[in-house]
Amino acid sequence: MSFKQFQFIAQINTNISTCGYEHPTPIQEKAIPEVMSGKDILGLAQTGTGKTAAFALPIIQRLAEGPRGYVQALIVAPTRELAEQINTSFKELAVGTGLRSLAVYGGVGKKPQFDAFNRGVEILVACPGRLLDHLNNHDLKLNKVETLVLDEADQMFDMGFFPDIRRILKHLPKKRQTLLFSATMPADIRKLADETLTNPQEIRIKLEQPLDLITQVLYPVSKRQKAGLLLHLLENEPTEGSTLIFTRTKYGAKNLAKKLEKAGFSASAMQGNMSQNQRQVALAGFRDGTFKVLVATDIAARGIDVSRVAQVVNFDLPSTAEAYTHRIGRTGRAERSGRAISFMCYDDQVMVKAIERLQGKAIKRITVDGFAMEEAGEQQEPKQSVRPHNPNRRPKKKAAPRRSGKQQKNPAATAQKSPNPKRASNIFGLGKKEK
Ligand code: AMP
Repeated sequence: MSFKQFQFIAQINTNISTCGYEHPTPIQEKAIPEVMSGKDILGLAQTGTGKTAAFALPIIQRLAEGPRGYVQALIVAPTRELAEQINTSFKELAVGTGLRSLAVYGGVGKKPQFDAFNRGVEILVACPGRLLDHLNNHDLKLNKVETLVLDEADQMFDMGFFPDIRRILKHLPKKRQTLLFSATMPADIRKLADETLTNPQEIRIKLEQPLDLITQVLYPVSKRQKAGLLLHLLENEPTEGSTLIFTRTKYGAKNLAKKLEKAGFSASAMQGNMSQNQRQVALAGFRDGTFKVLVATDIAARGIDVSRVAQVVNFDLPSTAEAYTHRIGRTGRAERSGRAISFMCYDDQVMVKAIERLQGKAIKRITVDGFAMEEAGEQQEPKQSVRPHNPNRRPKKKAAPRRSGKQQKNPAATAQKSPNPKRASNIFGLGKKEK
């Protein structure tokens, strides 16, 4: 299949070639004709499938010959990085059309954004919070928007943006085209889709498509050995391109990046506590190869498109199987192959099962000499509040018998009533119970 069949104007075809796209990806094949015909779309697709161009190309085609000077397409995205990335795609695909696109998000000054509105913008890519700020200040109008795109809707929901989105919707004309994209479709996203879309065309891009290009491996390891195993793998199994590592917490990302730097790797962290400027430096450095390793949390890394990611490492597994798919989709993008490594501790086994169930196949396990998964209970703290089971203790009596003044308390029995924490931890056997 070729891009020619969409009959884009010549300038757009030139831009597609300049971007190096030879054939439409599956989501582009399915979505572009539907978007061009004016339909609403409910797209179940993740980053890495080419979904940005799937909505950007038909929007540019529609606006290319039209009027200028006011916002006609609005794209709402959860993170600044994703907003920047979408804006870059629009700019590249709209070269020579005279269309102006702008990314708007918080953490930077409002004035340059306000000035850009006044100069005229046709395509606006925005994060919900800052956009609402501008709307409340009457900095811009959205009453002539023809196409609204809600991108990564599940992430926007997770980040608590839905109330803002509903407020933003009030500023848009009722009659418009709406495209909603999400990697997953839980009930809340369905509800938003029902509220915002009219007779949508549902487009699903199967998870297997990007995953087929990715070699997945699981390394059983104990929590305390994870950093050691990571260093071992980076040293002994180096890759050509860059490595994106996921941790569960911002603190974990920062710490691990420091450890890697100390060990001599060109590494940087990317997490929510960093300023916008620091994040941009980290991302630019990762893109141009200054940093070969980027350690990120899910939120900070969401939507990051770095085409040379050779491997993704799940230093900590995510909390859902869908998030795992989303993470490893950063490698093996747009028809390139990649590698996904995950560390599996004792507590992760349930999640690994869920991931394997979602994919319908088992993931290969590799054990490295000197590294092994902890036994059950190895990392569990004994709960001091729970009284240890003492087989020598007499069963509790329902009511204490009355003692006569002459009767003496049994000193041994009294002693047994006060739990000895030291002893408790020895005889708990919590691990055994869990096996
Ligand atoms: P996205 O899913 O929109 O984040 O896109 C993922 C990556 O695929 C980006 O680097 C795009 O530039 C690239 N891409 C998009 N469409 C195509 C295509 N038709 N052929 C090759 N690469 C593409």
